[in-house]
Amino acid sequence: MWRAERRLALVYDEEYLEHEQHPTHPERRERLSYTVDRLREEGVLEVEGIELVEPRPAGREELELVHEPEHVELIRRMSEQGGGVIDADTIVTGRTYEQARLAAGGALRAVELTVSGEYDVAFAMVRPPGHHAGRAKAAGFCYFNNVAIAAEYALRELGVERIAILDWDAHHGDGTQEIFYDRDDVLYVSIHQDGRTLYPGTGFPHEVGEGRGEGYTVNIPVPPGSGDRTYRRAFERIIDPIVREYGPDLILISAGQDCHFTDPITNLSVTARGYEWMMRRAVKLAEEVNALGPVAVLEGGYSVEDGLPYTNLAVICGLAGLPTDLREPVGSPEENPEGPERVEEVARRLSGYWEVLSRS
Ligand SMILES: [Zn+2]
Repeated sequence: MWRAERRLALVYDEEYLEHEQHPTHPERRERLSYTVDRLREEGVLEVEGIELVEPRPAGREELELVHEPEHVELIRRMSEQGGGVIDADTIVTGRTYEQARLAAGGALRAVELTVSGEYDVAFAMVRPPGHHAGRAKAAGFCYFNNVAIAAEYALRELGVERIAILDWDAHHGDGTQEIFYDRDDVLYVSIHQDGRTLYPGTGFPHEVGEGRGEGYTVNIPVPPGSGDRTYRRAFERIIDPIVREYGPDLILISAGQDCHFTDPITNLSVTARGYEWMMRRAVKLAEEVNALGPVAVLEGGYSVEDGLPYTNLAVICGLAGLPTDLREPVGSPEENPEGPERVEEVARRLSGYWEVLSRS
């Protein structure tokens, strides 16, 4: 039997399958049920050192660490009254408030278990996702910002002083960016499909933060069709050097798995192997800078059969240090050759903020 190199907490609850806006909505229950089936088939849940851990619901005061009380109250009241519509993609049902609290609490649990040393790394496999939720806004399938709540909680309650959030979801995490835009104790780095070609239409290199936070928001938009080579270049040229220079105590990952080439609502070309490479790289980075984590929190990923179960498996193997023999379920993608050059352009634009980028 395999043994994990690092103790991994997989935070998961069957309640996460119950959240449903409607059966044909991309953010649907099969995203997680197929993943869990895949993990069982591969024997991952029997690996020594990998454990399923139950989440806890986030308390109201924990949600209010990053959200306006009025926003929390709006979602609560809409749920209590049986539901309502925030936008076409983001519908509240009678159970949304409780379900979104449990998702945020999954991220909190993952951070608690890692900071306490009970586990080396963690993956909160939660629904609904969170990174489009802003201080006073639900949007883009998101109600409460799971990763932002976990970050703020770690800073205020767990003695962590500096956090790097790496967001590799295909969409820009506009909610997370907004929440930490004027802060220097949270470095937010997002690599995503160019906002001129994908929701939410933000996340350009000139969005760098403000006040004390200037320079601590880093956006790396990549063109449609960008794949493993582009993401590799982004780690080598920007993400690794900046995170090393920043020196976080904890690394969080907004693990959006919708960059997979089979994803139906995005246009990127990342493979499951590419995801595994990124996670191994993030683990190595945490070791190098002596940071806790990584703690990954699931965001998007809508290729429920051919993409998400494999990318989630890839991320889990990368976190735990398990050997993998990942087969891509269907063919392999064409990669846009312009991707790496665009990464170079972003590196040049950010060189005024980061010593390591000005040298090269
Ligand atoms: Zn996404």
